[in-house]
Amino acid sequence: MKYVDEFRDRELAKTLASRIAAEAAGDRDYHLMEFCGGHTHAIFRYGVQDLVPDNVRFVHGPGCPVCVLPSRRLDDAIELAERHGVILCTYGDMMRVPGSKRRSLIRAKADGADIRMVYSTLDALKIARDNPGRQVVFFAIGFETTTPPTAVAIKQAEAEGLGNFSVFCNHVLTPSAIGHILESEDFAEGGPARIDAFLGPSHVSAVIGSRPYEAPAKHYGKPVVIAGFEPLDVMQSVLMLIRQLNEGRVEVENQYTRVVTRDGNRKAQALVAEVLEVRDAFEWRGLGTIPRSALRIRERFAAFDAEERFEVSDKKSGEVKSCECPSVLRGVKKPTDCKLFGTVCTPDNPMGSCMVSSEGACAAYWSYGRFREPARDLEGTAA
Ligand code: SF4
Repeated sequence: MKYVDEFRDRELAKTLASRIAAEAAGDRDYHLMEFCGGHTHAIFRYGVQDLVPDNVRFVHGPGCPVCVLPSRRLDDAIELAERHGVILCTYGDMMRVPGSKRRSLIRAKADGADIRMVYSTLDALKIARDNPGRQVVFFAIGFETTTPPTAVAIKQAEAEGLGNFSVFCNHVLTPSAIGHILESEDFAEGGPARIDAFLGPSHVSAVIGSRPYEAPAKHYGKPVVIAGFEPLDVMQSVLMLIRQLNEGRVEVENQYTRVVTRDGNRKAQALVAEVLEVRDAFEWRGLGTIPRSALRIRERFAAFDAEERFEVSDKKSGEVKSCECPSVLRGVKKPTDCKLFGTVCTPDNPMGSCMVSSEGACAAYWSYGRFREPARDLEGTAA
């Protein structure tokens, strides 16, 4: 398959693995945070960590929008469906994420709430058109990648005069999160964790471009390589980061040139800027409240803002106490450090968002069984 097979080529992987081994200096460690859950899954699915030397370490980041949504916002969505009787439309990943008291959207649906899984904002608009006597709320989550469709839906609803459609906006922004992580005590000098460089978001960067990472990279002195999601993308990006670190360079480089440009998709950016604006602050699961890290609907489109149309109570979030998702999302702990991993908490019985989402780190560890099998080399031999 074009654009897939050539990025999974075994011989090229061997060549890249040799280059990484040759260029990674033996007298130092390389702590590379992969921001996106998509990278975490590529690393585990293809065993990339077994193809790099032990001193090249992957630190899993918070780049899973389902995982970083705090319980209180999920509770609010459930309240919209149960107390206000709206048809709540959401992407499938959200359905099983536990909110407070482990109540999820799918449980609320089982209890009678009208919650429907959709594949796109267009599905939600259709549901609004088909149900003129009901209020329909689209539960919008995601990083910059999914903001353009939300903006399009709001403009479309306005153009059609769909007075029964609104959006519960929970879109979050990646560059602010990178800065917040690097300023946290965890990553301070002498702190429990370390990041030397970043594998930067790829699909997000298709929209916003690589330029927004230039200021944080320079400010914090951390190289960034925008990396694609195939295994050879990740390996080539690791090599590019090792070269930057070895040479003392701090740059934003773009490995994912087949999709990402420096300026991104300007048309999409303009559309998003017309409909959405930056919030002063927003709470992230695990990372706390981060200034200017999320979007809300502009006043001009307030008629389509579910937070303006419906009153939701300001509940305290109630995460499962033993769940280590907050530490996993900050890159301070690995899923296997959580005592619930694989015992109480499994994909069939998730205790936290990181075990539910297709981009969650706990789901990656569990799905690819990397915690229970010996590492294997490229020939499939136990190392
Ligand atoms: Fe939370 Fe489960 Fe992951 Fe532990 S294994 S951090 S309980 S999601």
